[in-house]
Amino acid sequence: MKVTEHIARRNGKTLFTLELLPPLKGENIEAINQTIDPLIEFNPAFIDVTYHREEIVYKQREDGLLERRTIRKRPGTVGISAAIKYKYNIDVVPHIICGGFSREETENALIDLYFLGIDNLLLIRGDNPVGEKVFKPEKEGNAHAIDLVKQVIDLNNGIYLEEELINPIPTDFCIGIAGYPEKHVESPNMITDIAHLKEKVDAGADYIVTQMFFDNRKFFKFEKACREAGIHIPIIPGLKPLSLKSQLSVLPKTFAIDLPEDLVLEVEKCADNQQVRQVGVEWAIQQSRELIKFGVPVLHFYSMGKSDNIRKIVQEVY
Ligand code: FAD
Repeated sequence: MKVTEHIARRNGKTLFTLELLPPLKGENIEAINQTIDPLIEFNPAFIDVTYHREEIVYKQREDGLLERRTIRKRPGTVGISAAIKYKYNIDVVPHIICGGFSREETENALIDLYFLGIDNLLLIRGDNPVGEKVFKPEKEGNAHAIDLVKQVIDLNNGIYLEEELINPIPTDFCIGIAGYPEKHVESPNMITDIAHLKEKVDAGADYIVTQMFFDNRKFFKFEKACREAGIHIPIIPGLKPLSLKSQLSVLPKTFAIDLPEDLVLEVEKCADNQQVRQVGVEWAIQQSRELIKFGVPVLHFYSMGKSDNIRKIVQEVY
């Protein structure tokens, strides 16, 4: 079932979802099952699986010189999505990115997903590979998420890259896109960022999932600005329960977000990361309760491979 159908049938209830990372290359899919199992009894509406592009690493050779290699540390998004869908009978949302893909490779991945019976996608641009300052699309690839949205909409209309197909089957993907309550790091300002978001919506996106935020007022302001800009599709807030003291500096740097002073003060008082996890859970519970009261359709939890804290939150909130 599509994410939009889940939202339409929710009867005023706020649903919840989680986002999983594929395991590191060489690891077992068991790690995924261990993340999902504790949450099954709470009925997550659907599960997102992130996509990780290749990274550039430098290996020291025997002659002392450095060799530049390109590796993908977390492959498997399509396979894991299908495995989750058929093991748990839960809808999945694989992420598809522009970076590292030609348009043809994207089309082939979409065809695989269509054949696997997967009908939801989250379409994002992806970041530049670690060590590179700017995002560069592949030679024949999509440059922005909107190009990806247009490609999927074309496929939904039976328009493939190869023009001479006889009676090509249209796909029927539901399209999610990313939104940023604290603006995307590369955007000059919020108005421009929302204008680009609106372009993705006008191109055919069905719903928005936000970057993580820790201050609900930022989400409420963003939601209002989106509605005023003529964006009327569902907006799903993204929540990350804080779990490590180091995240006080890592999260703002990685995701271009602010952490509220009250939260920072609470975390700084913690003697160890066990206590930080507890603070993170309590903060996320408060955020979730307020967002549910506000009437958000779904809460999207960034798991980053751990679900015990999400379990505590949903146990408390639902
Ligand atoms: P875009 O919509 O292309 O926007 C990128 C920037 O370009 C913005 O500043 C925007 O304002 C601007 N822009 C947009 N359109 C235009 C245009 N036509 N002309 C000029 N400027 C424009 N990354 C991964 O690698 N894998 C994942 O699985 C993943 N999942 C994510 C899930 C969520 C919910 C979110 C919020 C982010 C996720 N990301 C993921 C990170 C994402 O790839 C980065 O934030 C990326 O830098 C931007 O992606 P986007 O889709 O918002 O890009």
